Amino acid sequence: MACIICNKSNEKRIFTNLTVCENCGLIYYKISNSLKIDDLYREEYFKGEEYLNYKDDKQIIQKNFTQRLREIQKYVQSGTLFEIGCAYGYFLDLAKKSFSVEGIDITKEPTSFARKKLSLDVKTGNYLDYRLTNKKDIVCMWDTIEHLENPKEFIKKIYNDLDLGGHLFITTGDAGSLLAKIRRENWRIIHPPTHIFYFSKKTITKLLEQCGFRVVKISHPGVYRSLSQTYYSLFLLKRSGGQMKVEKIKKIDMPVYFNTYDIMMIAAKKI
Ligand SMILES: [Zn+2]
Repeated sequence: MACIICNKSNEKRIFTNLTVCENCGLIYYKISNSLKIDDLYREEYFKGEEYLNYKDDKQIIQKNFTQRLREIQKYVQSGTLFEIGCAYGYFLDLAKKSFSVEGIDITKEPTSFARKKLSLDVKTGNYLDYRLTNKKDIVCMWDTIEHLENPKEFIKKIYNDLDLGGHLFITTGDAGSLLAKIRRENWRIIHPPTHIFYFSKKTITKLLEQCGFRVVKISHPGVYRSLSQTYYSLFLLKRSGGQMKVEKIKKIDMPVYFNTYDIMMIAAKKI
């Protein structure tokens, strides 16, 4: 497989199951042909697999989204906003106070929740197949790009779907961060096959610039997590029976804020 950024096949195996492009440093997981990516995102994905219970963690998730919304508003204060990978619509539900919002996600149950319970304009399907009715001022993708089989196709389409001067905001793990380097294959973001691409500041910038964007800012925001989700992803995610054990600490749950500087938020502009 040729690297999506530099188109060269100069790669090396790292850890047990990841590959690095020796030319540009992009890290990725090679998907086997038999794996159907869409099958990974059933209801269980948000309940008891990658997330302990996304739906119940709404308050904490929205605390994080409020931070991201504030960051967006440093650049754009009004207009149209489109979210790719919007899940239950918790971000759009906040953003609708300032922007005219719309979103898409491949998961059925979450998008149906967003439509029915939050009355949001949310589609179920693949963004690459979706034709937008008008150009947007903002596109965001929270913790989504690492899940994509073909992120370059997404970035190209986003470029097309944005108005000139429009902004793209992305969050994803930073594979060049100190924590990623120390933890290596044990870094909590290393999670194939759901996480396929592992970008660094350098590789994400290269990809965005190739598609016509200018990177305006890359920051490392901290996150609020519930005590139970923290415990779950630190100790139990890769073990069986994790869900049951965590029910015990649910009783004393609270939001915890911390910054491990291994998640990056990228602001880019269509120029
Ligand atoms: Zn490369």
